[in-house]
Amino acid sequence: MVSINKSFFYGIGVASITWLMSLCFYFQLIKHDNLNTVFPTNNLESHNSSHLLKDDMNDIGLIKTTEDQRIKDEGYKIHAYNTLVSNRLSLNRTIPDTRNILCKNKIYMDNLPKASVIICFYNEHLRTLLRTVHSIINRTPSNMLQEIILVDDESDIQDLYKNLSTYINKQKLVNVKLFKTDRREGLIRARLFGARKSQGQVLLFLDSHVEVNVGWIEPLLEQIQKKRSNVVMPIIDIINPDTFMYSASPLVRGGFNWGLHFKWENPPTGTLETKEDFIKPIKSPTMAGGLFAIDKKYFIDIGEYDAGMNIWGGENLEISFRIWMCGGSLELVPCSRVGHIFRHRRPYGSPDGKDTMLYNSLRVAHVWMDSFKDFFLNQRPDAKNFDYGDISSRLQLRKELKCHDFDWYLTHIYPELPLPTEEGERLKKKWSALEKDKFQPWHLRKRNYVDQYSIRLSNSNLCVSSVKDIKIKGSGLVLKPCKSGKNQIWYETDKNELVLAQLLCLQYGKANPILYKCHEMGGDQEWKHKGGKETAIYNLAAGTCLAAENKSINSAVSMKICSNPELATWDLVR
Ligand code: UDP
Ligand code: MN
Repeated sequence: MVSINKSFFYGIGVASITWLMSLCFYFQLIKHDNLNTVFPTNNLESHNSSHLLKDDMNDIGLIKTTEDQRIKDEGYKIHAYNTLVSNRLSLNRTIPDTRNILCKNKIYMDNLPKASVIICFYNEHLRTLLRTVHSIINRTPSNMLQEIILVDDESDIQDLYKNLSTYINKQKLVNVKLFKTDRREGLIRARLFGARKSQGQVLLFLDSHVEVNVGWIEPLLEQIQKKRSNVVMPIIDIINPDTFMYSASPLVRGGFNWGLHFKWENPPTGTLETKEDFIKPIKSPTMAGGLFAIDKKYFIDIGEYDAGMNIWGGENLEISFRIWMCGGSLELVPCSRVGHIFRHRRPYGSPDGKDTMLYNSLRVAHVWMDSFKDFFLNQRPDAKNFDYGDISSRLQLRKELKCHDFDWYLTHIYPELPLPTEEGERLKKKWSALEKDKFQPWHLRKRNYVDQYSIRLSNSNLCVSSVKDIKIKGSGLVLKPCKSGKNQIWYETDKNELVLAQLLCLQYGKANPILYKCHEMGGDQEWKHKGGKETAIYNLAAGTCLAAENKSINSAVSMKICSNPELATWDLVR
């Protein structure tokens, strides 16, 4: 600490150290195993030591050393989520039970079938995959779980297969079966490969970065037990890719647009009238793809997957259209909840660099959509001369199964989908057929402000301000002399966002914090402080704290390791 006033630093030192100690304290508590190795040494922590519900999660991402930073950077590069946090979290962590209260007292049939859970993965982070497996073991009654089948789709992370295999043997996870494909197959053929190895009556497909919630399997199996052509999906809760915070998703069903992109939408008006409606299965025109359960024999009868599809994309619409058009039904089961890490990007491509989403979508369009495929083709001029392989066996399948045509599907299963040829009044009518008022889309929800203040560097008269006009997205931050007026007022929301002048959110950028459109997804826009004077301001996703470069006008504001209070201590001035 260079020459400035000693007592000043003593003051902020004590305050900041107290606060940082509390930050670090929890961090110590959750440090179950060696943080710096990806391969865990002690993995069967007791449930009691691993309560990591919302409030305990605040400091989990704290970067304490350069090694922490390295793990985190590398994790983002390979996996596109925060592996530093994943490494620190217990494999048996508790997650909030997000089910509707009515689900909790439900009694299910007692002759439910056994499921084979099938998880294929390409370059998954080991500890995240193990957490997926443990969540299934912990929350699935053994009489409903035939086996967990893991299919390594020719990952190229060194030793991933070997480490996983060692772990399974060491922990004696007898019904976890690990396989490997001979070459990179892509998720469609890798799942098929897994399904063909399975022995359960029901196939339950999951992604490799999920956590299943309490009571997740019973309601799925019961729907299949009632009718074997019911294909069922859990509600996909959100695991934040930056913080691993687990939060509930609203009741939304699957749709699509004419670009053949899957989308979430509110259920039709009238679907959710009574309390019980919120726990009843809801028919869904399509599935998101990653997470669903299907009777194994039924899966085979209706033609499994289109094995001609590559790597990723389109298979979810293909199986959705096929299920509905060929006599089955697809439904969402609200009492079943599974959290999924929604990444900001998909960290892989196809080995030959081709657009597999387009290739696969063309197969969907040409096999299932009859003349409606033109809506897709017209939207995608690049699709006209794009090769989509041989589809003759899939056309044959459609014939053999005597499936309905696509017009039937649109009329009976998805009448709410507007056709590109429809205009004005008819379009309006179709949209208003979907629930609007019960489920405000998240981006239209009103923000709740809980506090407001300017952020002043302690023992100075310098406040955090926008470099550019406060309305400009992407602007960086600097210190400017504190002034009255809204330009330096930060509004804190109940989601721990800091919104400058109620316009843009403070967001942790690649290196420096910036102002950005509020996305309401937490993580890089989620800030913690102890309030009042001489506080650190900590970002959950960054794992670091807001800091000034130096104590002078126009000094940049950046992010620094929290354990260094110098230039990272702020007063919240009301
Ligand atoms: N996957 C695979 N092979 C591939 C691509 C993906 O086994 O070539 C796996 C991936 O590891 C994950 C699942 O398929 O378990 C779904 O992929 P992803 O999570 O990337 O899709 P998203 O959830 O982003 O739609
Ligand atoms: Mn996924």
